[in-house]
Amino acid sequence: MALVPEVVSKLVAAGHRLQIEPGAGLRAGFGDDAYAAAGAEVRRPDGADVIVVIDLGEDLDVPGSAVLGLLRPFDDPGRMRKLAPSGVTAWAFEAVPRTSRAQMVDALSSQATAAGYQAVLEGAAACGKFLPMLTTAAGTIKPASVLVLGAGVAGLQAIATARRLGAVVSAFDVRAAAAEQVESLGARFVSLDLEAQDAADSGGYAREVAVDEQQRVIDGLVPAVTASDVVVCTAAIPGRPAPRLIERATVEAMRPGSVVVDVAATTGGNCEATEPGKVVTVGGTTVIGVTDLMSRVAGDASRMYSRNVASFLALISGEGAAFEPDTDDDIVVTATICRSGAVVHPRLQEQ
Ligand code: NAD
Repeated sequence: MALVPEVVSKLVAAGHRLQIEPGAGLRAGFGDDAYAAAGAEVRRPDGADVIVVIDLGEDLDVPGSAVLGLLRPFDDPGRMRKLAPSGVTAWAFEAVPRTSRAQMVDALSSQATAAGYQAVLEGAAACGKFLPMLTTAAGTIKPASVLVLGAGVAGLQAIATARRLGAVVSAFDVRAAAAEQVESLGARFVSLDLEAQDAADSGGYAREVAVDEQQRVIDGLVPAVTASDVVVCTAAIPGRPAPRLIERATVEAMRPGSVVVDVAATTGGNCEATEPGKVVTVGGTTVIGVTDLMSRVAGDASRMYSRNVASFLALISGEGAAFEPDTDDDIVVTATICRSGAVVHPRLQEQ
């Protein structure tokens, strides 16, 4: 849910008028009564200065002057080109700069945090093992081993969650800077001694590595993958298909009962056996191609998203709660995808 009641009441107190679609928050744990008590009008929106969404879905008929959400501009630029002629201003969280000042607006990070956490729970639930070591009257159980591929925001949260649950955790990333962060969370960094081990671009993101180098990464990871009870895949390159890190043959070589949770399933998956939106079994291994992780932890994912939304709205709020969408604030300018009937984001104009 894009706005939770607690944040609605703050926006109302700041002078904004809010309309919430009936039943919209129910499955995330927020009923219409709570929105009404927070000061929102619970009704079908009849036009607004800003429509706040999680995802626009297939419906590009925006009943307002501007829309803010996770609009997938770089994964699906065609939709933004279809949206632009309506004249709506579109701000996408995916285009928010990754700067310190923009952290409060960084919905990619808040939702990746939720995804990384939930991915470990999905893996733990499916692997048939305790994650911690247990010493009981019925004997001692060894801790489970968890491997996390990709140590960005989702991966680091997955490492932290698996460690809290008592698993023995290792992780791999192509960015050299990730090693220290992995180790600071008490996990072992899988070092492959490859040129690709420092495939960071100037913005701190990973860049795609050459095909032969990628194959060496795939081959180099085989021992770590086959030794793990749960593998959580989070490797991604912004605006590109997910890098392939695990081949089907490697999944077949995993111990029966192992699990691969592919957080990258929405962009094709890090694992060759992944089927987005499905759970498949390869040999004795369960491959979870999960695409709705945030919805599985919807209450807190919504609370975090909501704060990102409110922080963005604060950037475009002028005197007396009036919106000033034409602000020259660099975060707002960078996040603008469509404006005045055209696609204006430089990355989409290049394509
Ligand atoms: P992301 O979702 O784009 O990618 C996830 C991870 O996959 C990244 O760590 C990336 O290096 C890794 N990856 C890509 N290709 C790989 C491959 N072939 N093998 C293994 N791993 C691979 O990344 P993200 O979580 O959005 O974060 C990217 C960077 O931005 C990180 O350094 C993060 O700490 C940083 N960041 C900074 C801020 C800020 O300063 N405000 C906020 C969020 C993230």
